[in-house]
Amino acid sequence: MRLRNKPEAPEKIAGYPQFIPENPEELKGNWSSRFDNNHPIHIEVGTGKGRFIYEMAKLHPEINYIGIELQVSVIVTALDKLIEAELPNLQLLHVNGGELTQYFEANEIDRVYLNFSDPWPKNKHEKRRLTYKTFLAGYEEILVPNGEIHFKTDNQGLFEYSLASFSQYGMILKQVWLDLHNSSFEGNVMTEYEEKFSNKGNRIYRVEAQFRA
Ligand code: SAM
Repeated sequence: MRLRNKPEAPEKIAGYPQFIPENPEELKGNWSSRFDNNHPIHIEVGTGKGRFIYEMAKLHPEINYIGIELQVSVIVTALDKLIEAELPNLQLLHVNGGELTQYFEANEIDRVYLNFSDPWPKNKHEKRRLTYKTFLAGYEEILVPNGEIHFKTDNQGLFEYSLASFSQYGMILKQVWLDLHNSSFEGNVMTEYEEKFSNKGNRIYRVEAQFRA
């Protein structure tokens, strides 16, 4: 993602602790209290500017959502959406998706979404891919038994790599879409990247993969 320098972003984020918690490690095991209900919690790792997670939260008030993003200059745009129109079932988290066990207890999360994750095409950067085995181990730890990852991308290389990574990890590939936008899939919520790349004519891939209990 092309980053614009936004020197005001950290200060802005600090001004909205009700949407982006300041000490998220203190919420480990306590997210239901934060949302004030026991609804399932779905997270998106690498949420970017937040369109997907915001639209999902609007469509599904019976689910709690957390958008996780590493880059301060990007998450601040997701924050703007919440400032404009607050959603009680959406929180943002400015942390590294590789360190999720610091912020979530075992079984605290019901689903992980990964959308248009950075492909890191060079072999030497494999460990940075959000579908690399160390990330999968983190997701598995915080997910309920049989928890699922729902992953979309237009990048064929990353998609094929991820199918292999899920499979080698012992996950079940429940369903695979090789051309999501020309399929019978209903209720697709577009991300910023999805709109950009599908407008260029790129095919969108999707997989639902499940951990074994
Ligand atoms: N999901 C959005 C979409 O589809 O429009 C954004 C896609 S963008 C290519 C990938 C995003 O993942 C970037 O904003 C990047 O900062 C974020 N990201 C990459 N590695 C991350 C990590 N380890 N933890 C949290 N976010 C990460």
